[in-house]
Amino acid sequence: MGYNVAIDGPAGAGKSTIAKLVAKQKGYIYVDTGAMYRAMAVYFLDCGILPQEIEKIRKAAKEARVGIEYEDGMQQVYLNGENVTAKLREEAVGNMASVSSAVPEVRARLLDLQRNLASEKDVIMDGRDIGTNVLPDADVKIYLTASVETRAKRRFDELTEKGIFCQFDEVARDIQKRDERDMNRKTAPLKQAEDAILVDSSDMTVDEVVAVICSYCK
Ligand code: C5P
Repeated sequence: MGYNVAIDGPAGAGKSTIAKLVAKQKGYIYVDTGAMYRAMAVYFLDCGILPQEIEKIRKAAKEARVGIEYEDGMQQVYLNGENVTAKLREEAVGNMASVSSAVPEVRARLLDLQRNLASEKDVIMDGRDIGTNVLPDADVKIYLTASVETRAKRRFDELTEKGIFCQFDEVARDIQKRDERDMNRKTAPLKQAEDAILVDSSDMTVDEVVAVICSYCK
């Protein structure tokens, strides 16, 4: 059994940035489960399915096979044998993933993959339902959050830096919509596990957050 650290929280809380740094410091493998939901979303978009076509998503989920490989410590995501890692951060993919991740058939396709990775290796796994559902017996559980304003500001800066034009209010609204969908869905909603440590990064630097989380880990 691997040593397992679960890190959950809303969109834009900085989970992947923090988890990557903790992984490096502690020698764990970083498992990004959002990327798996995004790979499923790539499949639905490739099939010409729209986010509101839930019945089609339900059926198509059975045909999508997501696989994970590690190359130079970086997670590579495969969809039906093709490496789709480069496509995962596209806006349309994120929007589809936010909706399709609420479909139970989609979640069921990824659960074993996530659990198998954690059983074989020492991992820090980030997502929305890791501490509550995927790894209920994780050695350390962190719920990483920040205010909507802080998360929207980080996302706005990230997009602007990439040369993508956006408006702050729109980014904030999008984050709130994602929170609402993740927290209110029936299957594996986003919530803090009872035994999770709450870390609010609104007024913390990246180094401070990493140091706090590392202090709880082996
Ligand atoms: O974290 P990231 O934004 O890459 O995740 C993409 C989408 O996948 C999220 O909007 C969320 O709805 C979903 N997700 C999930 N459960 C996880 C990880 C991600 O529902 N464990």
